[in-house]
Amino acid sequence: MERKNAWKTYDAAENEKLNAVCSEYSKYLDNGKTERECVTNTIKMAEAKGYRDMNKIIAEGGKLKSGDCVYFNTMGKAVMLFKMGKQPLEKGINIVGAHIDSPRMDLKQNPMYEDTDIAYLDTHYYGGIKKYQWVTIPLALHGVVAKKDDTLVNIVIGEDLSDPVVGISDLLIHLAGDQLGKKGSVVIEGEELNVIIGSRPLEGEDKEAVKANMLKILKEKYDIEEEDFLSAEIEVVPAGPTRDFGLDRSMILGYGHDDRVCSYASVNALLSIDDIPEYTCCCLLADKEEIGSVGATGMSAKYFENAVAELLNASGSYSELVLRRALAACRMLSCDVSAAYDPNFAGAFERKNSAYLGRGVCFNKYTGSRGKSGSNDANAEYCGRLRTIMDDAGVNFQTAELGKVDQGGGGTIAYICAAYGMEVIDSGVAVLSMHAPWEIISKADLYEATKAYRAFMLNA
Ligand code: MN
Ligand code: MN
Repeated sequence: MERKNAWKTYDAAENEKLNAVCSEYSKYLDNGKTERECVTNTIKMAEAKGYRDMNKIIAEGGKLKSGDCVYFNTMGKAVMLFKMGKQPLEKGINIVGAHIDSPRMDLKQNPMYEDTDIAYLDTHYYGGIKKYQWVTIPLALHGVVAKKDDTLVNIVIGEDLSDPVVGISDLLIHLAGDQLGKKGSVVIEGEELNVIIGSRPLEGEDKEAVKANMLKILKEKYDIEEEDFLSAEIEVVPAGPTRDFGLDRSMILGYGHDDRVCSYASVNALLSIDDIPEYTCCCLLADKEEIGSVGATGMSAKYFENAVAELLNASGSYSELVLRRALAACRMLSCDVSAAYDPNFAGAFERKNSAYLGRGVCFNKYTGSRGKSGSNDANAEYCGRLRTIMDDAGVNFQTAELGKVDQGGGGTIAYICAAYGMEVIDSGVAVLSMHAPWEIISKADLYEATKAYRAFMLNA
């Protein structure tokens, strides 16, 4: 039952393909540190392959036929790509779905203050983080400011090597006696995640002169006022590029592999399909997974269902009943990262049912915690069909649970889509240090995920 190391199966030609995929992925990750940036880049890649904005087609009353390629942009934070197949939509869609939001810190609505001649931005963290990991590392600011005149200002500070970076301080070891006696979860607390942004006072200013200087810089560079923070979404993320990891360059160190590695593999797989597929194929990139798939851009919203209704309508076959049948007939890979077995923390894992770096794309029949709670639990019959598809396509895959049964757990978007009655299974790439500022994946696993997702879309 032990799965083989994928690296052992590659010849020179395959190694070359793997390297090409991984270097494209590194760029995708560098250009997409927020869900908005991921949507923008994904649409750019799709448009280059002939995908058209479905909202424009709808506005013009346009029709769709097999072979047509379209995308739906949901508020700039979630995106779905569809390639229309030979079979009618009623026969179901082959969906690969992932999420493009990652753990981070968001600026509060009233973020800026000065304390003892230091200017700060106050944050509220997003998703599950070990807060102590986010101090004393270089951080960047990415996001948008929506001004009252309806203009949207894009902000990226800290990525160009000539840019300054920002960050959060930690208490020096010499005075950390009390701090180091605390539980790990409170060594750094949420209200201590305050980002230092400046320390030089504005000339001629008496009160809060450092903060005044910050506001002057923001006014000059971005034409924004302090009040504009009320309608901004600015995310504080690790600064700097994705790097090859390991002396053999077999791994990638990056921010937000969870879940942009599966997002990229899904986009790559769909855009690699040139011929008209048998069934309509969909790549779905959702937002808000890390906080429970809520909100208008999270998977619990109705945008997927609405999109299928629009596709049916543009294909001339919409009815409520046909929509229900189309949704229930779908096959889906809910693509999200898996915990990679970590020999340093072996006690948290169960070795027979762990994901291992380099052993290929993972399939998780179920996720959940404390007795599979919150899990989708894919049907055995569906798992069986997927084994055939993967073996026929020569995909290296492994099966895994997140960790030891009573150790904890997690969920994905799988159960939300399964509610329509479609077949869904979790599938993804193993990650070391998941949810840390810098996560690690194996290049082989990413490459196998692209192969798996393509094979799934063509053969499920
Ligand atoms: Mn995830
Ligand atoms: Mn996650």
